[in-house]
Amino acid sequence: QEEEELQSLEKRIQEFDPAVDGASISDFANLPISKATLQGLKEANFVTMTDIQKKTICVSLKGDDVMGTAKTGSGKTLAFLVPVIEALTRAQITEFDGLAALVISPTRELAVQIFEVLTKIGKYNSFSAGLVTGGKEVQFEKERVARMNILVGTPGRISQHLNETVGMDTSNLQVLVLDEADRCLDMGFKKQIDSIVGHLPPTRQTLLFSATQSDNVSDLARLSLTNPKRIGVSADN
Ligand code: ADP
Ligand code: MG
Repeated sequence: QEEEELQSLEKRIQEFDPAVDGASISDFANLPISKATLQGLKEANFVTMTDIQKKTICVSLKGDDVMGTAKTGSGKTLAFLVPVIEALTRAQITEFDGLAALVISPTRELAVQIFEVLTKIGKYNSFSAGLVTGGKEVQFEKERVARMNILVGTPGRISQHLNETVGMDTSNLQVLVLDEADRCLDMGFKKQIDSIVGHLPPTRQTLLFSATQSDNVSDLARLSLTNPKRIGVSADN
């Protein structure tokens, strides 16, 4: 039955045209996403999509790289978490498959927020998720991260794990998310992000989100995304 749901999901996504169908949908329930994710969203009271969610999730579900720009508070977290969860669901990733998605965020506080939303809406999905930030014992983390399907963390600590943790296999990575890319760069994380990207298979999907546009963000997008769809909802786009 699960196999059947996945097949019909795959078909719906193939038939889904963001340019045509995307314009007429408003609720998460209208998206070609799994029942599990829809249930998680519903229980967290997420029903109607925000603008950036409407415009980007449709495109991300098709597998394209996306560079999304929208001001703080516009709902960027779900704009990337829903496609991440769906990519793993459709690839039938379980806890035995190792690292399948990475979510990079500039601060510990933001990473914690993302992780909390992920565990809430991903409640009915079968992957494992871990939070990796500074301020915790790195050795303790190392024992757990090698088993995680989704890691959420800060650039410094994620790159440290990719460099140092034995058994960190990135060959199965499906999606990389660079959240608050503008802030990551302002905080001086360019080197760490480049190092992370260097560890990952080029076949992955990359989603980059930012509150503001800048030459630095465009440079990062050029280096880490492939033929990205650029989607903005703020006035300066
Ligand atoms: P951003 O990352 O763009 O600053 P967030 O993802 O942190 O924005 O979302 C801002 C707030 O909006 C959060 O409190 C979040 O729970 C809420 N929110 C996001 N998407 C929705 C939605 N579709 N429906 C209702 N509330 C939402
Ligand atoms: Mg955010």
